[in-house]
Amino acid sequence: MAKTTIRVFLFLLLTVLTQVGGLAYLLTLGVARTLRLKGRIARLCLFLVLYVGTAYAATVIAPHFGRVPLSCFAKPADHLVVRSPIYCALNRNYVTPDMLRMAEALAEHMDVRFPGTVTLALDANFPFIDGFPLLPHLSHADGRKLDLAFYYRDGTGRFLNGVTRSPIGYFAFEQPSPADEQPCAGRNDWLTTRWDLAWLQPFFPSYGIEPERMREAVSWLSKTGVVEYGVEKVFLEPHLTNSLGLAAPAVRFQGCRAARHDDHIHVQIQ
Ligand SMILES: [Zn+2]
Repeated sequence: MAKTTIRVFLFLLLTVLTQVGGLAYLLTLGVARTLRLKGRIARLCLFLVLYVGTAYAATVIAPHFGRVPLSCFAKPADHLVVRSPIYCALNRNYVTPDMLRMAEALAEHMDVRFPGTVTLALDANFPFIDGFPLLPHLSHADGRKLDLAFYYRDGTGRFLNGVTRSPIGYFAFEQPSPADEQPCAGRNDWLTTRWDLAWLQPFFPSYGIEPERMREAVSWLSKTGVVEYGVEKVFLEPHLTNSLGLAAPAVRFQGCRAARHDDHIHVQIQ
């Protein structure tokens, strides 16, 4: 009984974290039984082999179901790069072909405007099944959502290309000053993914947002992105929208129950 409970738990955990990982786990159980593999290390190695195989198969099969992977192997000439290999290892790098075109066009534009600039992609979507959320992002469930990293500069004002404050691009929040618009101040929602993670903040370097590139990227999204690529919404916290002067119909506040958007940009297309 305990064994079955652990197996169900592992299947669910791997499915929630990587979508196809649960399937790789079931395959592992079947193959291990057939081959009479007993040792834990041998089973773990078998799982890793089957997981890599399943993840690779997803890159080939998912395009037939409308999602393509953002490339995980950046070449020096690439302007759009996935921030961390962890996103690819967990199959969190899939988007619709239209979203891929939009993201590549944005990265291309940024490189033309600021030569050499790399635009960093964060969480996208899983390879399969509309409605299957990429936790903790409930809305990243249909290939039409993509998070992008902020552009940063160091204390001397030098642009930090391909660098983010947090190693994965999330959770290093820009704190609003007391005078800024703070629509969620004073609320105490328990059912929320708006985490402040105050304990984590001192671990991040104190880079600032590089305002020129941030303005260029968000205003491209809210103008060219909307008109030519079907950009529907760009989520950013109001204090950044205001301080960077980025107000536009597409640039919205996501509400107080969704994650903070002063550590990354969320983009969704129609
Ligand atoms: Zn998002």
